[in-house]
Amino acid sequence: MKNRKIYLIGNWKMNPGTVKKAKGLAVDISVGMESANKSGTKVVVCPPYPYLELMNNNMSGFELGAQNCHFEDQGAYTGEVSPKMLQDIGCKYVIVGHSERREYFAESGELINKKIKSILKHGMIPILAVGEKDGEALNIVSEQIKVALDGIPEKYAKTLVVAYEPIWAIGTGNPATPDEALSAKILIRKTLRDIYSTKSVDSIPIIYGGSTNSKNIKSFIESGEMDGALVGGASLEAKEFIRMAEAIN
Ligand code: PEP
Repeated sequence: MKNRKIYLIGNWKMNPGTVKKAKGLAVDISVGMESANKSGTKVVVCPPYPYLELMNNNMSGFELGAQNCHFEDQGAYTGEVSPKMLQDIGCKYVIVGHSERREYFAESGELINKKIKSILKHGMIPILAVGEKDGEALNIVSEQIKVALDGIPEKYAKTLVVAYEPIWAIGTGNPATPDEALSAKILIRKTLRDIYSTKSVDSIPIIYGGSTNSKNIKSFIESGEMDGALVGGASLEAKEFIRMAEAIN
């Protein structure tokens, strides 16, 4: 783990159901992380849009991320939120390409590419999620990366995070094995090296997502050689999310 920056990124999805609960969860994570995170893990919390502002006020122990964005700065796009707005409200990261967005909102690779360009333009870090469906070959991950990063200059390589999230492992309680994650990481690195120089690629964190918890996170970081985790369910329980940070120490 030496010299490697480790990421622990919580994706709250469309949870919790009230501002009060969101505030409680944020405060618990904030307070807990201050003593739990001894190794300098980069902790990021990505709440639903309406909670971003409250999370940005007086919270320490984590950085703020969004779960989605549009690619334009502003305009007649009913229901959308722009990277410019997210940057302005204090977001440092934006998740893009999550399988739930690809599947339920029919997001294409081309759309994801536009979003990434806009996120980078506004100085934030895209967390690019890629992953194969059950029974699908891992090659799909290479394709997703090539399309997502098309036309993105080398100078931005150091401001990317790639999250390998096998779709069959998300929210199922059935994580990949650390070896499976490592195989995907090797393929992702190889794909990135076809686009950028080795030096740039070696600085891109590749994290794992899919049914991680405080019991398995360490094995993904150690034997799976992952640079951290994108966490869904376990990030909604402050104690468990904090235990994950402790396990990383
Ligand atoms: C996710 O949705 O990105 C995710 C990894 O969810 P979970 O941890 O619940 O599998």
